[in-house]
Amino acid sequence: MDIKFTNRLSYKQARLTVLVGFILGTLLSLIQIGIDYASEDASINREVQALLQISHNPASRIAYNIDTELAQELTGGLLQSPAVIRARLIDNNDTVLADVQRPRLEDRYRLLSDFLFGEQRQFQERLHLAQMPKDYLGTLYLDVDTYTFGGRFLERAWVTLLNGFTRSLVLTGILLGLFYMMLTKPLVTVIAALSNSDPRQPQQTRVDCPPGHESDEIGVLVKVANRQFVSMATEIQQRRAAENRLTDYLNELEDRVSARTNELKASNDRLSQTNQDLEEARRRALEMAQARAAFLANMSHEIRTPLNGMLGMISLALDSGLPAEQRQQLSIAHDSGKVLVELLNDILDLSKFDAGQLELERIPFDLGAMVEDTANLLSQNAAANVELTCLIASQFPSTVLGDPTRVRQIVSNLLSNALKFTRFGRVDVRLSPIVGGVRLEVCDTGIGIPEEAQARIFQPFTQAGAGITRQYGGTGLGLALTRNLCKAMQGHLHIQSAAGFGSRFSADLPLLTHTEAIPAAPLRGRVVTLSKAGSGLAELLSSNLPGWGMDYQQHESASTLQPGAFELLITDDLEQLLALRPQFAAPILLVTAYGNFLPSERAGELAPLVQLARPLARNALYQALRRMLQGEQANTAPVQASPNALQHRARVLLVEDNPVNQLVAKGMLGKLGCQVLVASQGAEALEMLDRETVDMVLMDCNMPVMDGYEASRRIRQSGHWQQLPIVALTANAMPEERERCRAAGMDDYLAKPFRREDLLALIEHWVPLNG
Ligand code: ADP
Repeated sequence: MDIKFTNRLSYKQARLTVLVGFILGTLLSLIQIGIDYASEDASINREVQALLQISHNPASRIAYNIDTELAQELTGGLLQSPAVIRARLIDNNDTVLADVQRPRLEDRYRLLSDFLFGEQRQFQERLHLAQMPKDYLGTLYLDVDTYTFGGRFLERAWVTLLNGFTRSLVLTGILLGLFYMMLTKPLVTVIAALSNSDPRQPQQTRVDCPPGHESDEIGVLVKVANRQFVSMATEIQQRRAAENRLTDYLNELEDRVSARTNELKASNDRLSQTNQDLEEARRRALEMAQARAAFLANMSHEIRTPLNGMLGMISLALDSGLPAEQRQQLSIAHDSGKVLVELLNDILDLSKFDAGQLELERIPFDLGAMVEDTANLLSQNAAANVELTCLIASQFPSTVLGDPTRVRQIVSNLLSNALKFTRFGRVDVRLSPIVGGVRLEVCDTGIGIPEEAQARIFQPFTQAGAGITRQYGGTGLGLALTRNLCKAMQGHLHIQSAAGFGSRFSADLPLLTHTEAIPAAPLRGRVVTLSKAGSGLAELLSSNLPGWGMDYQQHESASTLQPGAFELLITDDLEQLLALRPQFAAPILLVTAYGNFLPSERAGELAPLVQLARPLARNALYQALRRMLQGEQANTAPVQASPNALQHRARVLLVEDNPVNQLVAKGMLGKLGCQVLVASQGAEALEMLDRETVDMVLMDCNMPVMDGYEASRRIRQSGHWQQLPIVALTANAMPEERERCRAAGMDDYLAKPFRREDLLALIEHWVPLNG
């Protein structure tokens, strides 16, 4: 490493030393020159005084003798003195005896000399003789040029100064050399050694100490540096070892990662292969499920047709007068057939879920009325001691948007379970609006479901316990289907149950309101109920009657009742009614269980009396109350009758090629009081329509010559029967089929095999009773 000369330590040290030495030397030189100056200044006066002393006696004699010649010689001699530039001798009469002078010396340093000593000095000596000291003889004047002395002094001063400078210069050189040799050179050597040494190479970690400096500061510096080198080298070695270990570890890690990557790649390949296989399997499964659904639909068609015939025939046979034993055998066969139809329907629905074929409608329908209808249809399954009640919130919407068929399935599944597993107590169906939809609750006081079975029962073909099938029958499909339906509608199905304490199934369904509830016209009147406090009837009436504007009271026992304090008595307690009847004349509304209407002669005894079967539908109740309170003739005939009791006067054209189906449908329609015309295919039906007037057409779809679709199209195209209801009869239960029927101009759809109740509901809907 090269250090600039002026930056070197030796130079700096020497420069400082020399500066100090120079200043001191100059000061000393100046002091010396000052002293010299003082002595020179004094020596001028001394020398001239001495000259005057020497010249005193001769000058006194010359003045005494007034000898001008000698005076001339004396003054000339005095002028020989280098400093004297004028000499004058006058006598005591001031007569000039001699006056000589010469020009003063001129030189370039003269000014400085004149400044120091003055330009010239004048001396005078009063003359007298030694023997006559008091007698003044004359005066000797001398003018002295100071430059003679000043020049000498300046020369000496220059020499002194020059001497001082030279000494400083020499001293600087010597000191510079010494410092360089003592300090800079060994330091430079150490620096060079330090800069060349590399702590990473162990053999280069020692710096040699310059000879002669082992124990001074440089030696110590070298030792400390060497120690640092050693520790640095050790540290570097340790780091290098750690780095090597790290590199080894990284290499190992890289190997592992690449091995793992290869493994992952392989397993990825395997996975994508498996995925492909799975995708393929899924596709095959979907295809199979679709094929199965199609197969099931076709099979259901094939199975339904003969089943329809079989059930229809059995039911017709049951209605004819048969010996009791045969009747029992046939009714078992009929029940088994019904179970078979339900099973078939459930399996078909489940397979539709599996094949993803379930399509939901979104049309407005009256959910309240549908629940009441369904409950009414299922009421025949209720045990004698079970009170079935429909409790529909008064503000429940008039119509909601959704799929009525599928919602009916949910209601019917939950309700038929509740009725099946309840031997006594209550079964309630409740409907209430919730945010974003409706809540359907079916509560019963039946056998309940143990906690551990509650999750299981939603699996297909699963029941709560082993003895259930034996005791209650069933297939274990209903809840699975119900849950799937709720899910498909984006709803939820909840269960609350405890073994022995009944069950509560609640379905929250996002069925949006289409039409808000329409308030009924108020009915005025004092109405009293005689029923147990916890009965469904009491709850139903207390929630509806005040809203319909009636003055309503509820009594549990006839003893608290004041005859004459009411205009109408509603009761489900026949025993108390019989005891009470003689005490009052107001009309009575008797609510009975399904099939328990009083025979007309007994009803006559209690007149005026109207009988209504449970469950009470809001509309039926309202109409009955309106008639009875507004004094219309109350009759003893039951207003809401069972399907058997309803007599329809509708003229129905049945278009059906299968003779068995013809017989079944004809028999059922006849039982419902309908007049039936039969055509065996479409063309025949068209001809018949030209001749006859009918209220409704029941149209089979698949027929020879002209099928039901074509016949329906022609009926609509003809322009004569635009409003005539045409209901398709088909065994194919798939949604496309329904669409196809609609497209052909048919209004409704009835899947075979159908029950008499289904047929009744259909006729009631399309050919309503007048009044
Ligand atoms: P199924 O009624 O045909 O057996 P479900 O799927 O409808 O099939 O019901 C499955 C099981 O759940 C029933 O077998 C019964 O054990 C139990 N279950 C359903 N509803 C009720 C209920 N309301 N009370 C008691 N148990 C019930």
